[in-house]
Amino acid sequence: MEPLVALCKRRGIVFPGSEIYGGLAGTWDWGPVGALLKKNYKDLWWKDAVQLRDDIVGIDSAIMMNPKAWEASGHTTGFVDPLIECKICHQRFRPDKPKEVKSHEATHRGKAVEWTEPQKFNLLVKAYLGIIEGKQTEIFLRGEITNGVHVNFKNVLDTTRVKIPFGIAQIGKAFRNEITPGNFVFRSREFEQLEVQFYIKPDESEGRKWFEYWKKDRMNWFLSLGMKRENLRFRDHEDDEKAHYAKAATDIEYNSPWGWQEMMGIHNRGDWDLSRHQQFSDKNLTYRDPETNEAYVPWDIETSSGLERPLLFILLDAYHKDEKREWLQLDPKLAPYKAAVFPLVPNKPDLVAKAGEIYHNLRKSMMVSWDDRGNIGKRYAAQDEVGTPFCITVDYTTLEDQTVTVRERDSMEQKRVPVSELEAYILKVL
Ligand code: ATP
Repeated sequence: MEPLVALCKRRGIVFPGSEIYGGLAGTWDWGPVGALLKKNYKDLWWKDAVQLRDDIVGIDSAIMMNPKAWEASGHTTGFVDPLIECKICHQRFRPDKPKEVKSHEATHRGKAVEWTEPQKFNLLVKAYLGIIEGKQTEIFLRGEITNGVHVNFKNVLDTTRVKIPFGIAQIGKAFRNEITPGNFVFRSREFEQLEVQFYIKPDESEGRKWFEYWKKDRMNWFLSLGMKRENLRFRDHEDDEKAHYAKAATDIEYNSPWGWQEMMGIHNRGDWDLSRHQQFSDKNLTYRDPETNEAYVPWDIETSSGLERPLLFILLDAYHKDEKREWLQLDPKLAPYKAAVFPLVPNKPDLVAKAGEIYHNLRKSMMVSWDDRGNIGKRYAAQDEVGTPFCITVDYTTLEDQTVTVRERDSMEQKRVPVSELEAYILKVL
């Protein structure tokens, strides 16, 4: 983790939040390279979840919601007991239940367990709306993005042609008063989530079918991004860990340097969310089956993951180091820059002009980096560290035969490629 964190800072992937003021715990700023990585991940996810599917539509709901929505979902009443948190695994316990605390310590087999101070805490981050002092309304920044989807269930039904089974996808920020943020961006107080709420008939066998479908589908998603199979696993929730309404729950976990950790959750939530919102809003949130005319509150199979957490795990899988160099073996689809263009030397106008022409042409169809500093070796090293799959060098031969040297990141092999074929050559790999 340490060399990766250093690389992320050095190359503009992730900076500590508000760094010049001494930081703000649990917040991170993604730099010029990191912002591209995030965007690529979100674009790929949206393409997979929405663009290529007939049964999912996407929405973008507000971060600030009527506080009643949080009452309905149980967030305002949950998490108000004084709790202490195990600093090893982040499980929280009531300090007034010493038996449970002791038996938890025993699960860490001889390790000295440190606990946070007891705190009465609610995960929701409060905010205040209104300009008149004393007359402001207390609201919450959303603790998860799910509620914004459920409250729009009827709007989506009324404005699209979806029929059950169908899903609503969303990407957006969530905020949590985590008492122990840490492990770099793994546990932050502000983060993004990517979710699909998939509504199905309220039926046990439908529930099992779609739950299994989404487990497989999401595992394949992470594998399609080049994650290592051996670092991923499913972990079904124990009965005493599951929310009281959950019919089935499993996590996709990653084998991190500090043990197996949740990367995403897949839950069969039954009709809990829609029923609660129906009850609290007094609005009809049932679905009428167009064939049978039967009205029912659908069940929801939720797939929910963060953005920064999977990206951290992807970066850990991608990080490579040998005696000569450090590099990110990122899937080219995710790589912040798809290529970098260099003139062999910066002080030969012909070379710079030709390289500039190639750079300006290529960047119409992909994100391309430019570098004319230092020597070629240093430029390769800088691009390797941000995972750029191809480096293109314009040299004296280019001026004669219109070919360039293309150097591939992982094999470090170099090939001469005609300038006219460059774009197709790179797009083929992407
Ligand atoms: P944890 O047990 O690690 O606190 P959770 O079970 O509370 O996670 P969910 O509410 O299921 O998490 O959120 C879904 C996903 O959102 C998680 O799998 C994770 O990828 C991401 N996520 C949740 N909390 C955080 C956080 N504090 N920082 C970054 N990502 C988070």
